[in-house]
Amino acid sequence: MHLADSVWAAIERHLFADSRGQRFGKPRVGRWYDFTRIPGRARSHTRRAKWETFRLHGTLSGHRQAYTGADGRFFQPRAMRPVPAPGGCWWSHEGSLVMVFTGLGAGDLALPVRLPASPSNQPILDHHLSDPDRWHKVDLVRRRDPVAAGGWRYEAHLMVLTTPYVSPGTARRRATAARESAGRKAGVDVNVSNVTVASHENGEDLRITRIERYAGDGEDTRRRAAKKRRRERALERSRRAANPGQYHLSRRQQERAQRRADAGRPPQAVIPKGPRKSRSDGKALQAYRDRLSRSYRRGRAALAAEAASTAQAKRDHARRIAGAIVLRHGLRPAVEECSLSAWARRWGRSLHAFSPGMLLTAIQREAVATATQACLSGGLLRASTRTTALSQHCLCGRRVEKTLTDRVHRCPLCGLVGDRDAVSATLAAHLVFMDPADPSTAAVDFFAAGASLQCPATREILRNTLELAAPGRQDAPSESTAPTALDGSSAGDTWRTPSAAAMVARRNVGTALRPTPDETVPCGRTTPDRARMRTDLSPPRGNKLPSLRDSS
Ligand SMILES: [Zn+2]
Repeated sequence: MHLADSVWAAIERHLFADSRGQRFGKPRVGRWYDFTRIPGRARSHTRRAKWETFRLHGTLSGHRQAYTGADGRFFQPRAMRPVPAPGGCWWSHEGSLVMVFTGLGAGDLALPVRLPASPSNQPILDHHLSDPDRWHKVDLVRRRDPVAAGGWRYEAHLMVLTTPYVSPGTARRRATAARESAGRKAGVDVNVSNVTVASHENGEDLRITRIERYAGDGEDTRRRAAKKRRRERALERSRRAANPGQYHLSRRQQERAQRRADAGRPPQAVIPKGPRKSRSDGKALQAYRDRLSRSYRRGRAALAAEAASTAQAKRDHARRIAGAIVLRHGLRPAVEECSLSAWARRWGRSLHAFSPGMLLTAIQREAVATATQACLSGGLLRASTRTTALSQHCLCGRRVEKTLTDRVHRCPLCGLVGDRDAVSATLAAHLVFMDPADPSTAAVDFFAAGASLQCPATREILRNTLELAAPGRQDAPSESTAPTALDGSSAGDTWRTPSAAAMVARRNVGTALRPTPDETVPCGRTTPDRARMRTDLSPPRGNKLPSLRDSS
């Protein structure tokens, strides 16, 4: 039914105009390659014994009982044992876990479930599987895996209605952060080459943390990049070898072939190293119809798997740093709104440990999780650059003009000296909001900021940040080139902006110039399903129904 739903959504967008009066193109059959998920239907939580399509039967304790060895250790054999239905009825089955698909002509399909057997995984299994009432639905998913036969790994994904698992270590860290740092006010300064976080407690105990863009570029990143280049070269060689007719010979190969011909020797088969044969406008003569060898397909899957694991490593890295930042700087960091998409273009393909957007998202998530655990409020606060101009002010309130290349802040009035990003982050830590959800209500509390200058340690700490100013990247501008709140791709922007003035569609997710009707409800929280672009089914002006409307 969910498949039918998604097909209908595409047809609906083609048949009926959306809120701007535009219709989408004819739905096309997608690629086999992109079809990776068959959604199952959710089970009923009000009627007993009502699962549809794919169901999960059995219990975790029954599974552990069935697979506990003589030494008392939980294990999973190489080939799982078949699970019979007790008396032909699955509803009374309480043994090992089994996924069942009923309604087939040849009887039920019962696939035994394999659980991770290592001791470190057992608390996670307990969290998700111990209460069968919370099991919700099962999707069938395939994902690319170069090691699996055929290049695909097939999995059944169980959705469980519960909170995410939090390890005891993480819970302890969050409890510590809530206890020790909840009173701190923090500010974040983001620019292309680094992220600077500063925080204080009532104007005292200033702490500054700098995360360099290239900090994670160690041996590991270089090794990954080299491996990727090696794989890409191997793929290119393989493609050229399988389709020699599509490439020119390189000049050296041509000269060599000429020499052989002159000497009267037969031509030699080589892998052509020249450019691809193409038309005058640069388009390949034969695109997309190359012959690809089996090893090419394997190599391509390996490359994709490697890219996925690199992305995962980056996310993990960002999450670890976010954990440390929230622990040290508190639960409500304020950040200036800035356009990350403009930076993304500048960052290009150069190596980086993580992007600032990824780090801000991780900080937001960690702050919310920490606050939720301690029953406090937390998360990133966004401030509009128009009202604050943090990089152009001093803590004493004096405007200190700086160009993009000025890395050092020197105030002629109070004599404060420091790295410009550190001063800017410290100023962000003194932001106050009339309405925390509205970026344009942010203002710097210069009274409190000036008071914090009275604390001698503040000047000392900021002066010490001068050594941070030196290794900054001079070839890149150190601040946003398009600091506008109207550009939807804002820092850490994972929620909707409630302010009417700033309520615009994000440029990178859709083409709508204004929100779709579902989103105009004040304080209305849209579900992801409702938030996508929908057809406007309200009668158009003149109350004339569109001709394609089904009025039955
Ligand atoms: Zn000053």
